Amino acid sequence: MSKTERKKSVELDPQELQAQRQIIAKMNEKNLYHMQQTGKQKKAMIVTYGCQMNEHDSEKLLGMLKQMAYEETDKREEADLVIFNTCCVRENAELKVYGNIGAFKNLKKKNTDLNIAVCGCMMQQPEIVQSIKKKYPFVDLVFGTHNIHRFPELLVNSQTANNMLVEVWEEEGEIIEGVPSMRKYGLKGFVNIMFGCNNFCTYCIVPYTRGRERSRNMNDIVEEVENLVQNGTREVTLLGQNVNSYGNTLEGDIQFADLLTELNKVEGVDRIRFMTSHPKDLSEPVIDAIAAGEKLCEHIHLPFQAGSNKVLKAMNRGYTKEGYLALVERIRAKIPNASLTTDIIVGFPGETDEDFEDTIDLVRKVRFDSAFTFLYSIRKGTPAADMLEQVDDKVKHERFNRLVNEINKISGEINAGYVGKEVEVLVEDVSKTNTEKLMGRTRQNKLVNFAGDKSLIGKIVKIKIIDAKTFSLNGEVII
Ligand code: SAM
Ligand code: SF4
Repeated sequence: MSKTERKKSVELDPQELQAQRQIIAKMNEKNLYHMQQTGKQKKAMIVTYGCQMNEHDSEKLLGMLKQMAYEETDKREEADLVIFNTCCVRENAELKVYGNIGAFKNLKKKNTDLNIAVCGCMMQQPEIVQSIKKKYPFVDLVFGTHNIHRFPELLVNSQTANNMLVEVWEEEGEIIEGVPSMRKYGLKGFVNIMFGCNNFCTYCIVPYTRGRERSRNMNDIVEEVENLVQNGTREVTLLGQNVNSYGNTLEGDIQFADLLTELNKVEGVDRIRFMTSHPKDLSEPVIDAIAAGEKLCEHIHLPFQAGSNKVLKAMNRGYTKEGYLALVERIRAKIPNASLTTDIIVGFPGETDEDFEDTIDLVRKVRFDSAFTFLYSIRKGTPAADMLEQVDDKVKHERFNRLVNEINKISGEINAGYVGKEVEVLVEDVSKTNTEKLMGRTRQNKLVNFAGDKSLIGKIVKIKIIDAKTFSLNGEVII
């Protein structure tokens, strides 16, 4: 098969697809009848924790709910259905979920018709499902990451069941295309290009909750992007735990660079972004594709996690500090205006002061535009959880604060370098911090606030930067 040949991919079993569609249609009828009788539309609230992958799954759930004549709400008091889409990457996220579900106990007592569903990564762990059953018996439905497409049927069945309905698939199935969801067509759209992860970084729970890596076929991705663009989307972000290994599970020699090149040809799309890039798999053809593709934004999120080679090895990351620095040099040689962002973990088991200095040193050498910094969090079931030399909490926090200060100082300096320059901004909305202003992002993903008429929302405008802060830029429209 040639690289650009479009192969049709695995469809959801037609009978299953048909069954879900019929359920959606029935629910739609029932909810519209309810609205006629009561004058009230059924309302659903989705609370999402964690990464863009989860955000996008919530978007799919909302799409199905809208087809069932539910309206979205962010007010818990008026919701008929509340869904918690959970994350378990760090303990903090988990604790928040438990606290927030618990807070619905009284509301459920007052309103017995209220439906509560819990889904997402946490539910892929049997002990967590057990604890939900025990501590939160008022939850109506529990499902996992691999059977989201069965949500309409599960929802209906849970509404007539006497007890909590639990359906979690242990194993991921094939990729399911054609799920009867309806999406939000915004200015910016997320597109999954692959699911799961094969890397098994020793600290990370994701491979256990999202399953093995599976790439979607290129034709399905291109069709989805074309469809988004026809419905008004101007910027697309391709999602995968390791986008650089895209294609490994597909027939033929299809790689991420081929997908980028193909998507760069889609008419009407202005900007293409992607995340996350694993440094060990970021190939020269990908760098070349970004350099050549006028729609491919000059921003690479390239998590390095730790600067010490000893820690990187213990994390099973598959690269060294020197290898990472050499990769950054190659990126900057071919894409000089690329912004680089990263993820860093502080306090991985066995991390000494000296190891941490390597992290600081790498931050200073690369000079990242910004970084997500995390305190290492023990995840049961991962190899790092059993490593003996866990770092003292106080030491972790001290290192964390030092790192954040260093990163912010560099971000501020990089941003100051933009003052006086002209940038291209895709105008997204009214600014969240100052409603008198508009906000948008540059191709490098820099947040820019500026004064302008709301009619500019959705357009790409030239802005002159007049002031810089640590996390944003201020500018004025160039007329
Ligand atoms: N697949 C992406 C990658 O490899 O870069 C990241 C996925 S993960 C959801 C996002 C980030 O969470 C990781 O890059 C890592 O920095 C952080 N993370 C994952 N497990 C963690 C843990 N146990 N403790 C602290 N941070 C963690
Ligand atoms: Fe987790 Fe590593 Fe996979 Fe990222 S690449 S999802 S950090 S196992």
